[in-house]
Amino acid sequence: MKAIEAYIRDVIDFPKPGIVFKDLTPLLNNAEAMGLCLDALVQQIGDTHIDKVVGMEARGFFFGTLLAQKLQAGFVPVRKPGKLPYKTLSETYALEYGTDVLEIHEDAIQQGDRVLIHDDVLATGGTAEAVCKLVERLGGQIVQCNFIMELQFLNGRDKLKGQDVASILKY
Ligand code: AMP
Repeated sequence: MKAIEAYIRDVIDFPKPGIVFKDLTPLLNNAEAMGLCLDALVQQIGDTHIDKVVGMEARGFFFGTLLAQKLQAGFVPVRKPGKLPYKTLSETYALEYGTDVLEIHEDAIQQGDRVLIHDDVLATGGTAEAVCKLVERLGGQIVQCNFIMELQFLNGRDKLKGQDVASILKY
């Protein structure tokens, strides 16, 4: 864990004052660290079958696609509104101020698919909760919500009750 943590850079007051941004670009920049992180993400899933890995725009795409390849699963991007070209389902969720929307292609998940949801950071859990709803509306069965980092003081797990939530690094 320490070897992975060493490649996470804290950026103070980004994108706004008071936020300590967990920057994973140094990790992406180092092949060995990336490999260790991918192995740790796979390990926390355990020995279970996954049909689809769902990754959140944009930092969920980095390891989401690598995970999908490793697990021999398909990859499904969840994106901000207007980015996905085909027919979509949308889910609106609350932010600190106002709301935001996430979209998924309506044919990306089949009824009964075993789904892994992946993102870099679990913060308040609002994003992951919205993604869970999209997956469930398409008939997917969520196996795990899988993160590299978890900001425990924001209690994101409270929004993901009933789900298996796993993270490599806890702050
Ligand atoms: P959440 O509050 O759990 O809905 O997190 C929203 C999104 O913002 C997630 O996709 C995270 O990747 C990102 N995020 C939230 N807080 C941070 C942070 N401190 N550092 C890096 N990314 C963050």
